[in-house]
Amino acid sequence: MPNISLSQVNNHFRNTIPLMVKHSIPVTPAYYALWYAYVTKQNPELTERMGAQISQGINRHHCDELISRYMIAPVENKLLEMQASIKTMVSSFGDSTETAMASADNLSESLSVEMAALAEDSGAMTDPRAKGLVKHVNAFMEKTSSYREQLAQQTEEIRLLKQRIAETERQSYLDGLTGIFNRRKFNEDISMLSSTGCDTCMIIVDIDHFKPFNDEYGHLVGDKVLQSVAQTLQSSCDARPGAQAYRFGGEEFAIILPETELPSAQQFAENVRLRVSRLNLTNKKTGVTLRPVTTSLGIAQLQRGETPENLINRADQHLYAAKAAGRNCVRPLLR
Ligand code: GH3
Ligand code: MG
Ligand code: MG
Repeated sequence: MPNISLSQVNNHFRNTIPLMVKHSIPVTPAYYALWYAYVTKQNPELTERMGAQISQGINRHHCDELISRYMIAPVENKLLEMQASIKTMVSSFGDSTETAMASADNLSESLSVEMAALAEDSGAMTDPRAKGLVKHVNAFMEKTSSYREQLAQQTEEIRLLKQRIAETERQSYLDGLTGIFNRRKFNEDISMLSSTGCDTCMIIVDIDHFKPFNDEYGHLVGDKVLQSVAQTLQSSCDARPGAQAYRFGGEEFAIILPETELPSAQQFAENVRLRVSRLNLTNKKTGVTLRPVTTSLGIAQLQRGETPENLINRADQHLYAAKAAGRNCVRPLLR
């Protein structure tokens, strides 16, 4: 952070809090950090985006998105970079440990054979230099054996470290609320597919009128609904080889269907839409049945040489068409 005086800090504080209160944003440390960054214009892109959102009306979910995009993502990227270099280091260290262990084993095996032969050779053993040699070599082999134990312990530690790294890597691809894959994983998968497979379809699934739903039942119930919708999408994908569901952000999800032409993706999307609309959700606390949740779905089939951004935009346009057509439907329409 640049050098700023105490009076400037106080000034920013006096500007930040009333602004948050005015927009009904709870003054938690994370939200305060975001609004402080906005007030102090720390990042021009954040300032512009957040300014635009404030003029349209901002809520805490918009804030969550801004935090994850402008405050968490840059730090996460640094962590991922670090993780990758640790992984390379651990793996090369692990390899060299294994090589060292193998050579120690080979050496002590051949030495013990030679030593046994020498010890049995009574002629040779009358020479005091041979006796001295056997003594030294035996001492050396004892040392090697304790060194080997240390190496074995290190190898085990490296194995555990590799396991932990693999686990954090897996976690970094999961959405914290729903447990399905997140946007980061989506970006990686779609980039990979866009450079290889043309017969890939993507679907954007957006919950209809979710804001009023949250307003009526509260955000915690809203969160449970997001989890149920995510599980429904995931189980539909589990039943179809290669299909994968992701939380795209907020109340939006994405599905990737590799090796799928548009008509088959439309049928799949229609099935997903129906399954979600038939979810029978109850508020666990009150036992009250929630009103049905519906979704609108936009599909696009990847074209040769198309960028992921373009593909997402086309799916998004179809999603808008589905919303405009009255929601709870799939676009483009199945002919
Ligand atoms: P539309 O049919 O046009 O999509 O209407 P909508 O109300 O679903 O769309 P809008 O973009 O206006 O609102 C999305 C809402 O999703 C706003 C926000 O409160 C809610 N939301 C986003 N992320 C979360 C979350 O993680 N938990 C909960 N409970 N709500 C969320
Ligand atoms: Mg939306
Ligand atoms: Mg919505």
